[in-house]
Amino acid sequence: MLRGDIIRYVDMTIAEGQNLQRGMNFNVTNRGYSVILMSVRENAPYADKMTDDGRTIIYEGHDVQKNHAPTGADVKTLDQPYKTPNGTLTENGKFFDAATAYKNAPESIARVVKVYEKIKDGIWVYNGFFYLTDAWTEKSDGRMVFKFQLEMIEDDETAVATGEPEPTVLELEHNRLIPTAVKVQVWKRDKGCCVKCGSNTNLHYDHIIPFSRGGSSSMPENIQLLCASCNLKKSDHIE
Ligand SMILES: [Zn+2]
Repeated sequence: MLRGDIIRYVDMTIAEGQNLQRGMNFNVTNRGYSVILMSVRENAPYADKMTDDGRTIIYEGHDVQKNHAPTGADVKTLDQPYKTPNGTLTENGKFFDAATAYKNAPESIARVVKVYEKIKDGIWVYNGFFYLTDAWTEKSDGRMVFKFQLEMIEDDETAVATGEPEPTVLELEHNRLIPTAVKVQVWKRDKGCCVKCGSNTNLHYDHIIPFSRGGSSSMPENIQLLCASCNLKKSDHIE
């Protein structure tokens, strides 16, 4: 999977080998990494943010589960939980403790987190691997919420951090993160289809002028939807 790949929800759950109902999934199926689902859309349920051209994410923790809240209570008015009622750590608690452990031992390696971003109903983008580097709590609308800071792992570090194969030159070419607003605009303009062949499967956000040749990630004019096979043909053509 490459940064910028568009993926259906069902394929995400297949790729991760588990149901991803929760937004935060600490150490999924013991693969050595965690998974978070994020969204910066206006009507998103949590206040996630991206800064520094998408290289840093400030991710909001999860609310109390409805069945752990008093009957009829609005979970958006309750403090986000560190522990469940029976005393085990929530996902907030697990991520918080991991980030704190890293902060207290700067020579240690931060936890690796895989990030998927929802850009539209049913449409997700794979944003790559990040390090979990910080966590804190803050007041928001009169209640306490958790915040987690994630920093993008450069692709040449990803292989080391995750044990995945080193990326190829083609992969490196396609790995620049594109701001969400641009992704949404390009998706609308290209009507969710490959601009070359019209396919609506295996889509990827492609830089028309490659990033390495000065092409921009933040201008919709330089980004298009391509399917995997048209993407391959294009890269053959460049070489
Ligand atoms: Zn195509």
